[in-house]
Amino acid sequence: MKSQQHGSTLIIGAGLSGLAAARTLSVRGLPVTVLEAHERVAKPWRARHPALRLNIHRAFAGLPGQEAPGTDGVFLKRDTVVDHLEAYAEGLATPIQYSCKVTGVSRTPGGWQVSTGAGEYQADNLVIATGRESIPHIPDWPGGGRFSGELLHTADLGDVSRFDGKRVLVVGAGNSGTDALNHLARHKPAEVIVSVRYGPSVVPQRVFGFPLHRLARVFAALPTWVLDPAFRFTEWLFLGNLRRYGLTTHPEGGGTRLLRDGVTFAIDDGFVAALKAGRFRIVPGVKRFEGGNVVLADGSSCAPDVVIAATGYRTGLEPLLGHLGVLDANGRPHHPMGERDPGNPGLWFTGFKPIFTGYFDAAGVAAERIAARIAADTAALETPGAHKARAVNGRSFPADAPVLRQSVGDAPEREGTAG
Ligand SMILES: Cc1cc2nc3c(=O)[nH]c(=O)nc-3n(C[C@H](O)[C@H](O)[C@H](O)COP(=O)(O)OP(=O)(O)OC[C@H]3O[C@@H](n4cnc5c(N)ncnc54)[C@H](O)[C@@H]3O)c2cc1C
Repeated sequence: MKSQQHGSTLIIGAGLSGLAAARTLSVRGLPVTVLEAHERVAKPWRARHPALRLNIHRAFAGLPGQEAPGTDGVFLKRDTVVDHLEAYAEGLATPIQYSCKVTGVSRTPGGWQVSTGAGEYQADNLVIATGRESIPHIPDWPGGGRFSGELLHTADLGDVSRFDGKRVLVVGAGNSGTDALNHLARHKPAEVIVSVRYGPSVVPQRVFGFPLHRLARVFAALPTWVLDPAFRFTEWLFLGNLRRYGLTTHPEGGGTRLLRDGVTFAIDDGFVAALKAGRFRIVPGVKRFEGGNVVLADGSSCAPDVVIAATGYRTGLEPLLGHLGVLDANGRPHHPMGERDPGNPGLWFTGFKPIFTGYFDAAGVAAERIAARIAADTAALETPGAHKARAVNGRSFPADAPVLRQSVGDAPEREGTAG
């Protein structure tokens, strides 16, 4: 038994969403423990291209209680993001159990229980902050497993200079595909072919030197019937008619796709110029692989050395939470951003809904919602008469129900940061 405090919370994931939730809860005096699968924070960021910069304005890259560093100008460098998150984790007055992967989640009479290699944990509340991009997804293309070239996902992109002199096929030109293409535009691959079904909603990073993302709060305030044509017009005005280069337009606008489907905008920072210069060529979707060839939807084929699948991610939440009915058909939570789920009191999600200002800002908004609701539930427990039957998150439990319990198994507990 580790503690029996009301309002205890376990957070799964020490990414920016989990860390923001941890801070916001702990400043309210609520007991929090963070469980992180990796041995340190910011693992996903460390694996990204070294030249990666955030595509959101620095003004929106802060976290609750910590502004974004001002060292890099408008768009933070990858390594600065890593430092930013490390400093944030170090400043938390919250234990973070590293190398502690959660493998099971279940409801208990008093709240929630999770299983890890290091034992079982229980708390009144459970915050899922495992990220939208947990599992890189590559379609099950016929023959893909026998491709004689290199087939990788953008999650493993690393330094794209290693593709210099090679023929590269990028499949997908959404946010991460365009990001890979922006990097490739600055290097010297022998050929770059871009396979797309629909072109992305693409916006320039800067307009007359002004970083467009600075206006994110304005975009967020506008209805989609204004936003969709406005973004189409912006694309046409500053990037030209991309259909001339084979980049078809999705029938639905970028605002609709972001807010309804969670599909983020593609930010151009070199991709479109390379396309217009004839360095990049657009081809239809991939149908199958045949040895070293990739056969496309129109029957044509190409023979790349490297195929970069910019084909998205899965949350990987089904094995943990599928039995609770809290996920949609794509494995994303129905209540993605700190909303209360009446069917699952005490279960909260953060980091699963993209918004115009980006994930850092979204993490702050979700953290504030979650902390305010948990604080309200906890305060209800402290009111006179609440001692006989505890009403946690709208449910009643015996007054002596355990709130935060860790039964550590054989594996030693590894404790990380404490502020
Ligand atoms: C190439 C690329 C560029 C991006 N650029 C931007 C950008 O410019 N701006 C922006 O806002 N967003 C960007 N994103 C999105 C970005 O991933 C998110 O902003 C951010 O990382 C999300 O943070 P998170 O905490 O929600 O999830 P993550 O950063 O994915 O963190 C989740 C954490 O949970 C841990 N975890 C997962 N499963 C378990 C488990 N079972 N048990 C214990 N721990 C677990 C993971 O190890 C991880 O540390 C980009 C994404 C990609 C792929």
